[in-house]
Amino acid sequence: MNIITNLKNYFKAKSKGDETIKAPDGICPNCWGKQEWDGDFYKKIKVNNITPEHKTYDSFIHEVASKLDKITLKEDILICQTCNISYKK
Ligand SMILES: [Zn+2]
Repeated sequence: MNIITNLKNYFKAKSKGDETIKAPDGICPNCWGKQEWDGDFYKKIKVNNITPEHKTYDSFIHEVASKLDKITLKEDILICQTCNISYKK
């Protein structure tokens, strides 16, 4: 599982207007919503028309990734360390 790839896929889908995905793959949807990265993405990336090829886009993705430690679901456990909600595959 590569969180950077999952984040990029997630934001790519969002940019296309896909509202069916609640959180990137492997991330606790409950905590993801609370961290409000969607709003940040909109303010920093979308409004400025920054494309995935741009450096700013990449550093944004890495910034988000660095803050997801506690809400990343482990492959074998699937329990979020922050809110203790468990997820099944
Ligand atoms: Zn959680």
